[in-house]
Amino acid sequence: MISIQIVNAQRLAQKSNFVRDASAAPASEAGGIKEIIPAKYQKRYDEWKTEFLSTDIGKAQWDMYSHHPRLQITITIGGKSVQGAGTGKYKWNDAGELVAATIMLGEKLDEGYPSAVYYPVMNALEPFESKQLIGGSVLAATKIAHEFGHVMKISVTSRTLYNLQVQLFPIYNKIFLSNGYNVNDPRLVEIAEKMGGNPVQIWEDREYWGEANAMVYLRDRMAKESFQCSIFGRIKRYVELYASNYQERFVQIANSTAPPYRCTW
Ligand SMILES: [Zn+2]
Repeated sequence: MISIQIVNAQRLAQKSNFVRDASAAPASEAGGIKEIIPAKYQKRYDEWKTEFLSTDIGKAQWDMYSHHPRLQITITIGGKSVQGAGTGKYKWNDAGELVAATIMLGEKLDEGYPSAVYYPVMNALEPFESKQLIGGSVLAATKIAHEFGHVMKISVTSRTLYNLQVQLFPIYNKIFLSNGYNVNDPRLVEIAEKMGGNPVQIWEDREYWGEANAMVYLRDRMAKESFQCSIFGRIKRYVELYASNYQERFVQIANSTAPPYRCTW
């Protein structure tokens, strides 16, 4: 489902020229993107956002959400994780549709590379920034794309399943910590079956969806760079090393036809 969303957004990016101001007020009171940025962070936020919107896919995703009929995404800066970001405060309507999500960006989003194990896309940028081939704003925009990936995934996850996971995670972890870390404990097997995986599997699946969208952004952003295949070669290596069970979603992005992508997977 989510890969379909990404592909649709890509098609949208190809077709339209996005003459509209991407930050224009949403068509409906109910949905759209609400930016709550403290004045002291406004300048850096504008740079990160400009970098995200410099790609057709970034513009397409932004446009899709800023004119969304139901879903309101709040974007803000702050939080404890200064170099990270997080998405949460999800709300659903009675029809089970996602109507609210909040993306919290760290105040130093343009610094810091999370581990290649769970973040094979963001981490792959590191050597290119140290060689001054890319700026911190590209890293920040890649992190924003990762968070948009979370929103996309959650919007196709049922509220019932999400709430069940939230409710069962602590119960699972409590048993896990008290049984000598035995994942084969029948009680844990039963809970994992209900939730669609154990907490680590569920968490890593979510993170890799974030990374898949980060890759969609970078694919577009790096399309004209001489080091494009060098970055994607790193991503490929990390995915094969650490995320082989989730490889398919990255292969799909690498194999989709537009924008021009010259690297082989
Ligand atoms: Zn994430």
